[in-house]
Amino acid sequence: METIEGLILAGGRGTRMGHVDKGLQPFQDATLVAAVFRRLAPQVARLSISANRHLDQYAAFGVPVLPDATNDFAGPLAGLEAGLRNATSSLLLTAPCDSPFLPLDLAARLLAGLQEANADVALAVTADGQRHPVFCLVKTTVLPQLQAYLREGGRKMGGWHGDLRVAKVMFDDTEAFMNINTLNELHQHADLAVADAQRLIARAVTPVAAIEKVALRAALDRVLAADIISPIDVPAHDNSAMDGYALRGADLLPGAPTMLAVTGIAYAGRPFEAAIQAGECVRIMTGAVMPPGCDTVVAQECVTVDGSTVRIDAGVVHTGDNRRFAGEDLARGSAALKKGKIVRPADLGLIASLGIAEVPVQRRLRVAFFSTGDELRSVGEPLDAGSVYDSNRYTLYGMLQRLGCDIIDMGVVRDDAAALEAALRTACENADAIITSGGVSVGAADYTRDVMARLGDVAFWKIGMRPGRPLAFGHVTSNGRSACLFGLPGNPVAVMVSFYFFARAALLQMMGADAVTPPLLQAISSAPIRKKPGRTEYQRGIFSRTGSGRIEVQLTGAQGSGILSSMTQANCIVVLHEEMGNVAAGGIVDILPFEGLV
Ligand code: AMP
Ligand code: MG
Repeated sequence: METIEGLILAGGRGTRMGHVDKGLQPFQDATLVAAVFRRLAPQVARLSISANRHLDQYAAFGVPVLPDATNDFAGPLAGLEAGLRNATSSLLLTAPCDSPFLPLDLAARLLAGLQEANADVALAVTADGQRHPVFCLVKTTVLPQLQAYLREGGRKMGGWHGDLRVAKVMFDDTEAFMNINTLNELHQHADLAVADAQRLIARAVTPVAAIEKVALRAALDRVLAADIISPIDVPAHDNSAMDGYALRGADLLPGAPTMLAVTGIAYAGRPFEAAIQAGECVRIMTGAVMPPGCDTVVAQECVTVDGSTVRIDAGVVHTGDNRRFAGEDLARGSAALKKGKIVRPADLGLIASLGIAEVPVQRRLRVAFFSTGDELRSVGEPLDAGSVYDSNRYTLYGMLQRLGCDIIDMGVVRDDAAALEAALRTACENADAIITSGGVSVGAADYTRDVMARLGDVAFWKIGMRPGRPLAFGHVTSNGRSACLFGLPGNPVAVMVSFYFFARAALLQMMGADAVTPPLLQAISSAPIRKKPGRTEYQRGIFSRTGSGRIEVQLTGAQGSGILSSMTQANCIVVLHEEMGNVAAGGIVDILPFEGLV
């Protein structure tokens, strides 16, 4: 594969954004140029940034920053020229700093197009007929052609090619080439992508260190705090996989029946210890230790017995058949189970098979949670006009309990700064993690933000997802104790979805467990689904196996984020990824079955 260098074009004047430096505009969790950087960097061997202002801020990416040679803001071509002059490889790939969704295989596809057409320049064309000359892969030998064009006053990104051979490479993911040109568009797309939020959270949490030793049975569903090292070989001896006759493979006659004399019996737990001689065999039961000298077992149904002689026809058994080796399940000194594994029933059995009675596990994670809202009433209280029963604490209880956490239910906290601060402090001083619901959406009381910010480092994100767009995440500290905080939205479905897709993995990580994300399955959508590209949607679905053995999914009725019955009817979440648009009936979608999730 040829070496490709990348160049981010960030040298423009940002005219349509009020002359701001476009690349440095806040976008999602960072800046526009950072989003482009993140997508382009893995595709190229080296990266530079063409910029004309705020050079030090661009230099913070740790790559060369190239100002134009002409200082009249001659547009992207001047940036390309600077890039070509500084290039050290034969190919240069450009992308503009305002295309934060650019394809992750831009380089690969343009290179294929370039090579196929034996061209000098490959540029992207999308299905809507649009050419994208700023997304181009060029041979660095084109520099003189570009310089001549610039000298003549040419400034058009699409106009400099002259006699060069240009390959137009078709991309059907039109959305990925979207440019952000106005502040309005910037705000529309400023939501943090689900995967980015997940990544930021994963980076910010660390496992709780404490370990305890528990009796084997009590280790069920706990997280192993150390590898379980096998003190023995399992099985301890070579043994038989069949009821039959143990023999020496060397005695088997090729092409003729073999006659052997039965000299004894080996039972499981009662070995036959004498060595056998040529022409002898031993009746043996499944699991019995292989008698000395024997290396093969012939199943009893494959032989003919005549008194104390067995006859084995040619070809029914071969040397080494039906013999299990000592240590073939587990070798002494090897790790039978790895640290971080959640102990399931099979693991209990395996540990028992090693004779181990006590197991080191991580201490349980302590999670405090409360609901916020003046309108909330607890079960058992009368429901006055305008109030609702608090359901979030019950779904959270269920999910946390299933995850194996120690839980501290702190009830309902009023919409009041002092009450919220007091609750957060108590939670923080008693738990490793805090989960709140309500009060984090833009419309909700702003004091949440103030209080949480006062107690620590908490980010208020808008995530590109439905339901569950607002999410607060960070750490809070009180009296020297610190805890990880998830401020989930208030809507009951949003609480569960945010828990499954953000809190769950982070809590498992804090528990010291391997972040086991269950695989998404593919299902056929039985009906069309409406979906807007640019955000992830989590819809509630019911999946089943059709007569022909395919997995089919159908959405539960109303999908509003307050409609909890949609969650109880559903057996899975239909995950409609960020880039997806409408799904046709019969289209394939990803689903995440609830069973096994917590
Ligand atoms: P909020 O995020 O606080 O604006 O709440 C959004 C919506 O979710 C409102 O309709 C709340 O009444 C509702 N809600 C908030 N917390 C709970 C809860 N614990 N149980 C049930 N509904 C809730
Ligand atoms: Mg509220």
